[in-house]
Amino acid sequence: MACKGIYVHIPYCSVKCPYCDFVSVTRSVVDPEEYIDLLLKEAQLYKDLEVRIETLYFGGGTPSLLKPSQIGRIVEGLSAVFDLSHLEEVSLECNPRDYSYGDFKELLKVGVNRLSIGVQSFTEKGLKVLGREHGVEDSVRTFYRAREAGFENINVDLIYAYPNQKRGDVEVELEFVERLAPDHVSAYMLTPHTSTPLGQDILGGRVSVPQEEELEEIYRTLWKGLKAIGYERYEISNWSKAGKRCKHNLLYWKMEEFLGLGVSAWGFYGGKRYANLRNLVGYAKVLSEGKSPVEVEISLSERDILEERIMLALRLKWGLSDDLWRYIPFHLHGFFDRKGDRYGIKEEFMLVANEIIAEVLSALEKSYR
Ligand code: SF4
Repeated sequence: MACKGIYVHIPYCSVKCPYCDFVSVTRSVVDPEEYIDLLLKEAQLYKDLEVRIETLYFGGGTPSLLKPSQIGRIVEGLSAVFDLSHLEEVSLECNPRDYSYGDFKELLKVGVNRLSIGVQSFTEKGLKVLGREHGVEDSVRTFYRAREAGFENINVDLIYAYPNQKRGDVEVELEFVERLAPDHVSAYMLTPHTSTPLGQDILGGRVSVPQEEELEEIYRTLWKGLKAIGYERYEISNWSKAGKRCKHNLLYWKMEEFLGLGVSAWGFYGGKRYANLRNLVGYAKVLSEGKSPVEVEISLSERDILEERIMLALRLKWGLSDDLWRYIPFHLHGFFDRKGDRYGIKEEFMLVANEIIAEVLSALEKSYR
């Protein structure tokens, strides 16, 4: 199996959002130019690997804190190490406010062809509670700027079930989505890690998030609304227009191999999952000494692979093939739809998809005893 994708982690953020536990730094403990040198040095460690790179994904952190020319330097540097002639999709996560029309033009020139804009909410109320720096108008302006510059594949990231969110707020989100017509929508339920400030507030009862009926109402409004305006859900948290599914993320869900470059990045190749050091200074130090920044390496057994395949397949709309269906306990069959020889969790049960997945895995675990 050859590696089909590369994930590049850009660890910079201008402020730390109160719900986020991704590895990012708010000041340049390592200068971005130096960081790019380190990324390319790390890429060299994999130069002999069998690859057929189809997707490249810049995630973070906030990749849009790098100048387009710096993104271009990374793409060019990677093309000197790997054969990128099969590259189909180059995605970049971008925060509203970061790029001008000219920047978007330049990004297209250096090969970026898909943007993922960190809108999070089209309501000022949502942005405030999520501690975001931008306003709704910034998101709208950024979206139109990118379109006018020529981006034909744009995702907007949304967060739902934030504190005090009501059904009417979701309707506002949907109105904006309909008006802007992005090609793809990722909508994630707010689940802040308990170590984050927002997680602490929720845990301490100072802030409450929608629960049970309210949560269900928000969720139903969202998926029904997205469906009504032409989006097809293809994964628990992802909707797209025809032909605009995220190819890079599909690699993860289909358990294809990919490289992860950068501080805290994850990768999967040769039947092993690996994770890089999470500390930027430590990452810089080992690479400048010519060593590998891999901190954790896990070889997957046949059983691990089966469990992961089932878990990932259950995330996708028609992800479960006939050969995996036999692992679904009989009492859970009512949660599934069938299409030909494929199965998927019914739309109305997607809100409890994680619980269904956990139950399938627990039944599998018991079958081993
Ligand atoms: S949510 Fe995004 S912008 Fe905010 S701190 Fe996390 S990585 Fe940075």
